[in-house]
Amino acid sequence: MKTVLITGASRGIGAAAAERFAQAGYQVVLNYLHSAEKAQALAARWPGRALAVGADVADPAQVQAMFDAAEEAFGGVDVLVCNAGFAAQKLFTDVTDGEWRRMLDVHLSGAFYCCRRALPHMIRQKWGRILTVSSMWGQVGGSCEAAYSAAKAGLIGLTRALAKEEGPSGITVNCVAPGVIDTDMMAGFSADDRAALAGEIPLGALGTPGQVADALVFLAGDGAGYITGQVLGVNGGLVV
Ligand code: NAP
Repeated sequence: MKTVLITGASRGIGAAAAERFAQAGYQVVLNYLHSAEKAQALAARWPGRALAVGADVADPAQVQAMFDAAEEAFGGVDVLVCNAGFAAQKLFTDVTDGEWRRMLDVHLSGAFYCCRRALPHMIRQKWGRILTVSSMWGQVGGSCEAAYSAAKAGLIGLTRALAKEEGPSGITVNCVAPGVIDTDMMAGFSADDRAALAGEIPLGALGTPGQVADALVFLAGDGAGYITGQVLGVNGGLVV
């Protein structure tokens, strides 16, 4: 049975991914930062093959401890999903040093710490899947989201470089770039804003966390064995 570790699995896209991977027969490690109860309640749905582990992915020592816990429970991690993240909208000139650093620490350095810790096991077994969750803003840039866009673009660069380096070890590395997905991240938008957003999307609706999760499960599966270094947009046609 394969083991997947999903960062930021207590809510939104990560929680949906945990559900889809569990349904597909994986052992699932659900990482969270603050939402311990939510992550533990989710993990309790698959007794014996799901584990909730708290860790701030921006802290390499906590990432190390999280992987140690995963390995103790299930052996090595075969599939890593770097999904943890948060959004922040601000005029570029108002972004503080601390806000800039936290954005890069969580999204980009967090993925670095997780990939670095996950890879030795994958290399040893000559099989592994690494999936990063970027954003359409990492592809095209978002106004008032420069730090977020830069971090998410960095994830795409990491994905492509790592795909080349790890391909000879039987490891694929791919990225999913969601568009506007209906999660807590959209909580600040009014019904009118959401309707206006939906009107700009060729498929006419916000995406669901499950739709992103389906793409992640596909890229982890055997059917995607010859796909690596790619960025798969799940955005209803908003960015093509
Ligand atoms: P969400 O519903 O707000 O959930 C975010 C998740 O990330 C939560 O589980 C949260 O944990 C976790 N998290 C945040 N910071 C963390 C940290 N430092 N260490 C560990 N976990 C952390 O967000 P979402 O919409 O599902 O977003 C998931 C990913 O998709 C993010 O990387 C986001 O940038 C990306 N994305 C989202 C959209 C969208 O429209 N929703 C679009 C493009 C890309 P706690 O609950 O425990 O705090």
